[in-house]
Amino acid sequence: KQSETLEVVRYDARMESEDRDHKRIERELRRALADGSGFATYFQPIVTAGGAEGPVRYEALARWTSPEIGPVAPDRFIKVAEASGLLMPLGWLLLDRACKDMRALPGACFSINISPTQLMSQGFGAKFTEVVRAYGLEPAQIEIEVTEQIVLRDDTTISQELIALSDSGFTLALDDFGTGYASIAYLTRMPFDTLKIDRSFVRSLDGGKHGMRMIRSIIGLARAMDLKIVAEGIETELDATRLSIAGADLLQGYYFGRPAPIETYITAQTPLADRDTAQLRTH
Ligand code: C2E
Ligand code: MG
Ligand code: MG
Ligand code: MG
Repeated sequence: KQSETLEVVRYDARMESEDRDHKRIERELRRALADGSGFATYFQPIVTAGGAEGPVRYEALARWTSPEIGPVAPDRFIKVAEASGLLMPLGWLLLDRACKDMRALPGACFSINISPTQLMSQGFGAKFTEVVRAYGLEPAQIEIEVTEQIVLRDDTTISQELIALSDSGFTLALDDFGTGYASIAYLTRMPFDTLKIDRSFVRSLDGGKHGMRMIRSIIGLARAMDLKIVAEGIETELDATRLSIAGADLLQGYYFGRPAPIETYITAQTPLADRDTAQLRTH
């Protein structure tokens, strides 16, 4: 009986501190949004399975460091923003930042995450296209990632906005596939180009033959639907080998590179000679 009471107390305490945490993040987020400070975009390479070429594209991942709290994970601050009605202004700010950075790698391709709530706002696709073009980027350079969660909200506005984005030339990826909700029927109804297999799937492969068989059949299905398959969360050489054998087209994970500032890729891509010439030209 006593331990039961203790459990309840502990539970309440945790809820309360989570609530306080939420309030604090919300307050700091409002402050940061007012002057746009503390936000950055990191980029993670996505490479071909088995190939030795450079990245096929880079996924833009938001970063936020509050002067009061320190770094806050994107899933966390995006959830708080969503609950506080701050997601729209935050989303546009993040897109702005990402586009600014993306210009540093002319001609490269990128992935951008968009939350279901952003897609729920009418005319989102048109404004998104406008912003991207204003930065001199082509929709064909950009893949839009939406999480499996959109399937839960199977909503007309979302479908319309996704179709509009696809018509404008963006490619679409279903992110975090395998975390629960996406049905094959939904995938066939919407103009998706890419399926991103969640890293929990990759982790589950350690179990042996069963997992491999399952992932092979998912990839087989996706392929039959003309989808490109990206495997997320590739952390080791073994992960990379397994997912290549299972038929993934593209791989992404710490093994190939952690999310990093765009500058990381500029220096890596520009031959020294070019950099010297560029410097000469500015003098
Ligand atoms: P996501 O789109 O599924 O992004 C992949 C996440 O997995 C990233 O976490 C990335 O850092 C992490 N990751 C990549 N490779 C590995 C690996 O090998 N092992 C492990 N353990 N993790 C790996 P991150 O950056 O913390 O982002 C979390 C989520 O936040 C993203 O998941 C995405 O849903 C959301 N997010 C990030 N930036 C934005 C944004 O600008 N807008 C929106 N709406 N959502 C965003
Ligand atoms: Mg993503
Ligand atoms: Mg993902
Ligand atoms: Mg994920």
